[in-house]
Amino acid sequence: MSNEVAIAYKVCIFGDGGVGKSTLVRRYVTGAFEDDLKKSIGVDITMKKVDIKGRGVTLQIWDFAGEDRFRSLLPTYASGAHGGIFMYDITRLITLINIKDWIKIFRQTTSRIDMKPPILLLGGKLDLEHVRSVASDSVYQIWEKYNLDGSMECSAKTGQNVEAAFIEITRLIMTSLGII
Ligand code: GDP
Ligand code: MG
Repeated sequence: MSNEVAIAYKVCIFGDGGVGKSTLVRRYVTGAFEDDLKKSIGVDITMKKVDIKGRGVTLQIWDFAGEDRFRSLLPTYASGAHGGIFMYDITRLITLINIKDWIKIFRQTTSRIDMKPPILLLGGKLDLEHVRSVASDSVYQIWEKYNLDGSMECSAKTGQNVEAAFIEITRLIMTSLGII
């Protein structure tokens, strides 16, 4: 019977302001690069269907504004999440360093009894490789230190790895739940 139940997962996207969270979601959902998005205030929730091993899954993607003044709202929004995408900008090392703050909030507030919500570390703006300031060593250190579940880099501008990132977090969630 459980095979028949519709599957929906809540995925939260975290990261400093300007790393490209909203552009990533928009690219994923519309297939286009929109570079003049209104600055998000609070949270945007977007639904998108994905297919994993022949199973239809609905992702409920929560996109947070990264501004400090909204941080106090984060525990409320992260509550009940099945997984998190933690974004940094490959051209700004500080955005990778700051990931640790978001991890702490996420782990403290998502506690579920059925699973440990996986975290995918995601570098954005891969098309700006020529001005990269984040070395793969630094990424590896964060990944290892915080025991993260996956790591990849993408570009919302070219579309590289955009769909792959959402498929990866969905697979990590389903693995954590013991479904696949
Ligand atoms: P957010 O604050 O994390 O939601 O960041 P936004 O999505 O608003 O993006 C911040 C800025 O980065 C905008 O000017 C975007 O056009 C730009 N941006 C986002 N993704 C990419 C990307 O993949 N490549 C490049 N070159 N710029 C990007
Ligand atoms: Mg935004």
